[in-house]
Amino acid sequence: MHEKDVFCKIVDGEIPCYKLYEDDDVLAFLDISQVTKGHALVIPKKHYDNFLSTPQEVMHKVMDVAQRIGQVSIKLLGAKGVNILSNCYKEAGQSVMHFHVHVIPRYGEGEGFEISMKDNSKGLNLPALAEQFKNNL
Ligand code: 5GP
Repeated sequence: MHEKDVFCKIVDGEIPCYKLYEDDDVLAFLDISQVTKGHALVIPKKHYDNFLSTPQEVMHKVMDVAQRIGQVSIKLLGAKGVNILSNCYKEAGQSVMHFHVHVIPRYGEGEGFEISMKDNSKGLNLPALAEQFKNNL
């Protein structure tokens, strides 16, 4: 059996959290770091390492709750937008190795949180890259 991570401990009630939603399979709670007001995490209660290794049925349940929390962030908190993201593996910024989806409300300028995606397409063979994907999906 794998060693309990911090989210397994939250599920088991060994670490407290501010719960937003709970059912048999899914738990949602406030992220302790609040990169913006209302920053939430949605997790499966059962342990899976990350989004990529989670069974489809469980992943769908988690994403369903993430969508609802995103909708509520806009309706109730007055967010102007929301980032829904899941980091997979250390290289992508995953620090807790238990599948979780961040729901990060966005309020516009001055909120102190930024995702910047630069254009790094120069030199890439996009038709070949697309073909590679197509042949493996
Ligand atoms: P990751 O970097 O793995 O995508 O995100 C992990 C998130 O878990 C971080 O945003 C971090 O603030 C949050 N986190 C870590 N430990 C705890 C905790 O004990 N309680 C809560 N509520 N959030 C936590």
